[in-house]
Amino acid sequence: MKKVLVCGAGGFIGGHLVKRLKDEGFWVRGVDLKEHEFSTLPADEFIIGDLRDPRVCEKVLQDIEEVYQLAADMGGAGYIFTGDNDANVMHNSATINLNIADIGHKLGVKKVFYSSSACMYPEYNQLDPDNPKCSEESAYPAAPDSEYGWEKLFSERLFLSYNRNFGMEVRIARFHNIFGPQGTWTGGKEKAPAAMCRKVAEAEEGGDVEIWGDGLQTRSFLYIDECLEGVRRLMESDFTGPVNIGSEEMVTINQLVETVMEIAGKKLSKNHIEGPQGVRGRNSDNALIKEKLGWEPTMTLKEGLEKTYPWILEQVKALVAKA
Ligand code: NAD
Repeated sequence: MKKVLVCGAGGFIGGHLVKRLKDEGFWVRGVDLKEHEFSTLPADEFIIGDLRDPRVCEKVLQDIEEVYQLAADMGGAGYIFTGDNDANVMHNSATINLNIADIGHKLGVKKVFYSSSACMYPEYNQLDPDNPKCSEESAYPAAPDSEYGWEKLFSERLFLSYNRNFGMEVRIARFHNIFGPQGTWTGGKEKAPAAMCRKVAEAEEGGDVEIWGDGLQTRSFLYIDECLEGVRRLMESDFTGPVNIGSEEMVTINQLVETVMEIAGKKLSKNHIEGPQGVRGRNSDNALIKEKLGWEPTMTLKEGLEKTYPWILEQVKALVAKA
C-alpha cells in the first residue's frame, strides 16, 4: 500500500481527501494543528502538530512516498482581504511550505501535490466582472490583490524549484472557490457559499440577507467531490501544472444568494453592506485541464448547493438548540 501524507487533514478539503484516499486503498497519515471539527477521519494515523516546526515535519514525513500539501493559514474574504491577518498568512503558510519542500526532499518523498489558489492571478485581469481572465499563462506579470495570493505564487515557485533542481515530482493546482459540507461555515473564516447558506438558514421568513458590496461581483464555485477528482487525476498524470481546478459556471454573488434561497424555499431581501470583496470578477478557465487531463468538472452550482445547504441548516439548528 502506498503511504501518503495529507497536510491540513483537519481542514475542509484535507478531511474529504483523507476519506477519498482511504476509499482508493492508500495508507494515509493526516497532520493538522487540530482534529477535524465535523467528522471522525478514517486516517491510519492522525498526528496533531504544527508544520511550522521542522521537527514535526521530520516526524510526519517519515516513510512517506507522496504528500498532499493543503495546510495553510487561510479563510474567506473576511480573513484574507482585510489586511489584518497578512503577517500571519505570509509567515505561517510560507514556513509550512519551506519545511515540507526541503524536509520532504531530504527524506526522499517522491511526489508532492501543492494546493495553490486562483487568488494568485493578477488583479488587473479581474476588474471586469463579465470578462475576467484566469488562464494559467496569464499569471505574469504578477499582481495578486492579497498577500495570501502572493504567498501562493511564491510557494508554487518554491515547489517548482525543488522539481527543477532536485527532481522531486510536483503537481500544482490552482483551486477556485471550493465548497461543500463539512467546511467552515461560521466564525469569520468561512467563504461565500457557506456564509450565504448560513445567512439564509438563519433568516426569518421575510427577513434579509447581508451581502458585502453590490453583489454584482462574479465568481465560480466548485463542489468538493469534483475538486478531489481533479486532484487525483492530476496526481496520477504526468503533468506538473500549475493548472486550474475550478468551475466555469460564473455567477454574481446576488445569483449565488438567489440559488440558495430557491433551495431553502425562502423569499428574503438582499441587504448590501460595506465589506471586503476581493477582485471584481473571477472565473476558472478550463482549457488547460481539458487538454492535459482530458477532464473537467461538470456538476452545476445548484447541484452542489443542494448537497451543502441541508448540512449548514443542520449546523444552524444544532447551534440554536444548544443556546
Ligand atoms: P482549511 O482552513 O479548512 O484547511 C487548512 C488546514 O490547515 C486547517 O485545518 C488548519 O488547521 C491547517 N493548518 C494551518 N496551519 C497549520 C500548521 N502550522 N500546521 C498544521 N496544520 C495547519 O482550508 P481548505 O479550504 O481545506 O483549504 C485547503 C488548501 O486549499 C489551502 O492551502 C488553501 O489555501 C487551498 N485553497 C482552498 C480554496 C477553497 O476554496 N477552499 C481555494 C483555493 C485554495
